[in-house]
Parts: sequence; structure tokens; C-alpha cells
Amino acid sequence: MSLIVQKFGGTSVGSIERIRAVAARAVAAQQAGHQVVVTVSAMAGETNRLVALVEALSSRYNKREYDVVVAAGEQVSIGLLAIAIEAMGFRARSYLGWQVRFLTDSVYSKARIQEVEGFRIREDLEQGYIVIIAGFQGVDEAGNVTTLGRGGSDTSAVALAAALQADYCDIYTDVDGVYTSDPRIVSSARRLARISYDEMLEMASLGAKVLQTRSVELAKKYKVPLRVLSSLEEGEGTLLTEEDELMEKVVVSAITHNRDEAKITVLGVPDRPGVAATIFGALAEATINVDMIIQNVSASGETDLTFTVPRGDYQAAMDVLAVPVKQIGAKELRGNRAIAKVSAVGVGMRSHTGVAQRMFKALAADGINIQMISTSEIKISVILDEKYMELAVRTLHDAFELDKDAGDRVIA
Ligand code: ADP
Ligand code: ASP
Ligand code: MG
Repeated sequence: MSLIVQKFGGTSVGSIERIRAVAARAVAAQQAGHQVVVTVSAMAGETNRLVALVEALSSRYNKREYDVVVAAGEQVSIGLLAIAIEAMGFRARSYLGWQVRFLTDSVYSKARIQEVEGFRIREDLEQGYIVIIAGFQGVDEAGNVTTLGRGGSDTSAVALAAALQADYCDIYTDVDGVYTSDPRIVSSARRLARISYDEMLEMASLGAKVLQTRSVELAKKYKVPLRVLSSLEEGEGTLLTEEDELMEKVVVSAITHNRDEAKITVLGVPDRPGVAATIFGALAEATINVDMIIQNVSASGETDLTFTVPRGDYQAAMDVLAVPVKQIGAKELRGNRAIAKVSAVGVGMRSHTGVAQRMFKALAADGINIQMISTSEIKISVILDEKYMELAVRTLHDAFELDKDAGDRVIA
């Protein structure tokens, strides 16, 4: 008998009607002979509503209490789903993160799962229950409720699949798979039949929110066979797999975007050892992640240092930097929130040249100015003015002909 983990996102459980449809899907899988574990998110819009309630009270809220509040959305959806399944005449049992338990570290609002205890779930499965687990939440060693970061139910599902050695982890969402670009921005985007873990990891970390980055890391580490499917229609979806030769023939597989970053520049930094350590040390102490960094020493011996931080941390970063920037004798601190990052991703870049040139040429032809560039083995990212983001995504999707059937591309 095989074991399947199914995960349903917010839209997929967004109404009573949808919850019934999810119940029917879980029951159908059980009727087909599988053991079924279901993870669900909060109903669409609910987590945003809870976050807004917290923020209405204080901008410097206690993160432990934030987790207590935002974890509440999933409690409602798991209970409703269990009731829906029972109303259809089948057995279901729901559990919160601490009941299962999903043991995490204590980094509130972005906790990492350390262990999932599976015995209680296994016992219920043996007795014929469909087991329903709240996504997005866990508990730390001291018994505090934690949450896994926005979009974290994907990670709950993959961690469960790994712990239970599930045969499949099916992520049901409001699109029918992973596309060559966000189908809400690029209407000609194509569904990928398969994608490598590495490409999906880059895509997720560069803004393709169809899967939370951490969920892809876990899927890769534990070799979880993961499919992204639509909860609204039948289809093959997208399968995450190990890389193969066919994939390497495709230079660029996808174009992603991210508007959750802000840019900060420290101008006129004296050119001497220790200044970068002072600046980035101050940010690290404030637990602010830095993404891209560019440093440029001018002929006059002064340095300009530009980097990006999550947009939500922009004001905190500017506040934190005011003192060290003066201390090191830099001339000015400048910031810009209205930027976006657009990236081309593809494992084929390892063995092909000319990708950057093609990318820059296409952007130039549309008069789009590039503010920063960063590259890795399988991606090129540019920072540009936010108002050109959608145009840039479409332009690059065209430039790399992702809308076309390219001989070897694993397009559905
Ligand atoms: P869920 O609530 O089911 O977790 P999300 O909203 O988190 O759903 O993720 C699904 C969304 O991800 C889609 O509606 C789509 O707009 C977006 N998305 C961004 N990039 C991509 C991509 N490359 N392929 C598919 N969907 C993408
Ligand atoms: N409900 C949580 C969120 O909105 C977790 C998830 O949807 O995956 O971020
Ligand atoms: Mg999601």
C-alpha cells in the first residue's frame, strides 16, 4: 500500500465548496488504495488578515506572539476539512503542529523544522483514518508555537513526506504546475512537465512563490518525489526530479521576478580593511539578510557599496546603519525601495555561453536600465526600477523563446 501526502494551499481551501472538493480528492485517493495524509494552509486571505491584526497593534511586536496569532488560520481549515470528510462517511482526524509533533528551532516567524514525529500519524493511517495536519506551524523544544515563514505549508508537506517516506508528495495549488514564468504576468508562459530540484530551488529563492524555497531544499535532500498540481482541474502537473541530460540542453528554463527587496547604497566609503565588516556586521546583528552586494573602488580611492535587503527590513536597515556609516567616515547613505529583481534560471547555463549578453541586449532594446547584476552557475539576476518589472519579465521570456516548443525542452 502506498502512502501519499497531499498539500492544499489557501485558494484550494478558500470556501466551504472548495473544502468539500479537497475532501473528495482525499477520499478518492484513499478509495484508490492509498494511505492519505493531507496538509492544508489557512483559508485564502486569512493569514494576511491575522498579520494585519498584529501590525495594527504594534510595529515592534513580539515575534513569539505573532506566531501564536498567525498559526491560528490553519487550525480552522484542518478542523473543517476533517468535518467535511466525516460528512461524506469516511474517517478523518486533524492535528496541529505541536500535536504531531513538528519540532522546530525557536526562530519565530521563520522557524526551521528539525524533526517530524510520525508514529501518531502511522497509527491513525493503520486504522483507516485520513490524517489532516496543519501546515505552516510547529513547536520548539520549550513548547512554544512557531511558524515556518510565509508559504510554509509547502515545507510542512515535504517534511511530512520525508519523515513518512511517502511515495508521493502532491502540492495542489491554483495553477496546474510550474511554468516558465509566473502565468499571471506572462500569458504565453508554458507549463514544465519536469524540472530539476536545483532549478526549482533557484526559481523559488528568486521569487517564484509556487513553492517555498525551504520545501525544495528538503525535497532535494530527502529525494522526495514532488508534484505540483492544480486543485481545480485534473492534469499531469510538474514533477521535480534529479537533473538529466535533456534538461542541460535547455539554456534558460524560466524567468522569475521578486519585488520584495530594497536597495541601499553607502557612498564615499574610505578604502580600508574592516569597513565592509562594520556595515554588514551591524545588519547581521539586527538579523537582516543581505542579498546582492556590489563594491566598486573609484580612481579617487573611495568605495561605493550597494546591496539589497528584504523590503520589509528596509527601514530597520536604514536605522541600524546610521551610526556605523558615520563611524567609518562614509559620505552618504541612500536607499531605494522601488526596485525589483528579474532573473533567468537554467541548468544549461553551466555549459552555454552568451546568456548574459542576450539578456542585457533584450533589456536595452526596451530601454530598461540595469542597476545591479549578479550571477551564479545557473542564474543571472538584474535589479531594475520596479515599474519596468513586468515588461522585463515578458521581454526576457520572449528573448529566450520560452513560449515556443524548443526541440528538447521538457515542456508539457
Ligand atoms: P498556494 O496558496 O496554493 O500555496 P501560492 O499563491 O503560494 O499558492 O503559489 C501559487 C502561485 O505562484 C500562482 O498563483 C502563481 O501566480 C505563482 N507563481 C509564480 N511563479 C510561478 C511559476 N513559475 N509557475 C507557476 N506559478 C507561479
Ligand atoms: N497560511 C500561510 C501563509 O499564508 C502558510 C501557507 O499558505 O503556506 O503564508
Ligand atoms: Mg504557497
